[in-house]
Amino acid sequence: MSQISTFAALLPDTHFPLSIGGELRQTRERGQAINPATDTPLCEHALASASDCEDAVRAARGAFGAWRDRPWSERQRRVAALADLIEERQEDFMRLLTLEQGKGRAAAEWEIGGCIHWLREIAGQILADLPFELPGAGTVKARHVPLGVVAAITPWNFPLLLAIWKIAPALLAGNTLVVKPSPYTPLCTLWFGELAQAVLPPGVLNVIAGGNELGQTLTEHPDIDKVAFTGSTATGRRVMQSAARNLKRVTLELGGNDPAIVLPDVEDIDGLAQQLFWAAFQNSAQFCVATKRLYIHESIYPRLAQALVDYAATVPLGDGLDPQTQLGPLQNRMQFDKVSDLLAATRQAGLRILCGGAPLDRPGYFIPVTLVDNPPDDARCVVEEAFGPVLPLLSYRDIDEVVARANATEYGLAASVWGRDLQQAQAVAQRLQAGTVWINQIHAFSPHVPFGGHKQSGLGIENALEGLAEYSNLQTIMQRPL
Ligand code: NAD
Repeated sequence: MSQISTFAALLPDTHFPLSIGGELRQTRERGQAINPATDTPLCEHALASASDCEDAVRAARGAFGAWRDRPWSERQRRVAALADLIEERQEDFMRLLTLEQGKGRAAAEWEIGGCIHWLREIAGQILADLPFELPGAGTVKARHVPLGVVAAITPWNFPLLLAIWKIAPALLAGNTLVVKPSPYTPLCTLWFGELAQAVLPPGVLNVIAGGNELGQTLTEHPDIDKVAFTGSTATGRRVMQSAARNLKRVTLELGGNDPAIVLPDVEDIDGLAQQLFWAAFQNSAQFCVATKRLYIHESIYPRLAQALVDYAATVPLGDGLDPQTQLGPLQNRMQFDKVSDLLAATRQAGLRILCGGAPLDRPGYFIPVTLVDNPPDDARCVVEEAFGPVLPLLSYRDIDEVVARANATEYGLAASVWGRDLQQAQAVAQRLQAGTVWINQIHAFSPHVPFGGHKQSGLGIENALEGLAEYSNLQTIMQRPL
């Protein structure tokens, strides 16, 4: 009770209602958010029924024509105004994000700052008509036509940022939306939806909270034109199946098992260890593009492994509200149990664990940074996307071998290469099967740079003009004088 009232004092204006057709809707059935740092209830929120979902889709459909017909510049202004709404309440959004997701202050700052930045930058983009010069064909152009109603479905690791990655381009391109956040982290998105009603016409942005079945209802709904989805590969397959019913467009941002390859010529081992540590453990490793397999050349393996262990010992793990905390808990019990099970399997297999290795005996979903020493390539901790702080360190001898091992996965989201010889690093990067490859850096994103997975890590692009264009159909108009 005391936590709920503390929270209510923090955000007196919100009771986390659904936003449907420009109105805030409370529901009889309530959801309960859990604080992952304490494993205790945080607060209640509205929970959408099938009929709320129906109302949200109907409202989005009803608002579509007028929104589509507004000038591009007006939509730009309104999308940019959404950034102001968050900026004016940045501290509260960060605190709410920490409470519901678990991440520490720096990580919350990165996510909420990213929301503001993305909304402003996407608002500046323009999808121009494509003119063609075809001798004898008259005037030919291809114009971008909005799709209609977009369902945006998001996971629990970056709840607001990944929603904004969909909301901003979908709105700008002239679509209306129904947004469904993860049942584990609905609060920031519900609050954003509530605030956005002051800036957008009724029905343009609808936010409903609910479980996986609500996601399925949306993806099967005949009046949804596109599904923009971020989540696991397994769910992505189901989304694609449901979307096939009426050939909905889909953008799928799915799981990854990202390799990092450290070339033998690196020199500053301690500095590199820090960068690689955060490559793997940022957001407590609940990051689709976290480094999940670290390949180290055998000539530097012992030194780099030791530097990683030493650095890990200096990074405080705790409640995200504690300013000392650099790594928070896992976000939910399901994920905590999944990662605990992976650790148990790693121990049972007799693999050498350099640090961590078992969940902490304290309230909340805390798992310490765990480094596994050179497990075989078929170990579960190598093959599976842990989505938790478990990193296998893998020794390699030559480039062909490491490229083959790095590519030996169904995933292809991102990868990184670390080395002083940039020509060699480029050559390795170009052989990796991944949508993004970073060289001597990690997790650099921009609203103007395309992001998307290869292989079973996804379908389509988010960000950049290519991502914006995925919220439209191309219409070709070929004109000739009579
Ligand atoms: P998840 O697939 O379980 O859930 C994601 C969302 O889909 C949730 O809102 C959920 O309620 C909804 N959902 C579940 N079943 C559904 C169905 N049948 N139809 C429609 N919607 C459904 O994923 P998660 O556990 O929330 O997130 C973790 C996963 O997300 C990891 O695999 C991670 O790699 C991936 N991820 C990918 C990216 C990326 O950009 N590629 C980013 C973040 C997370």
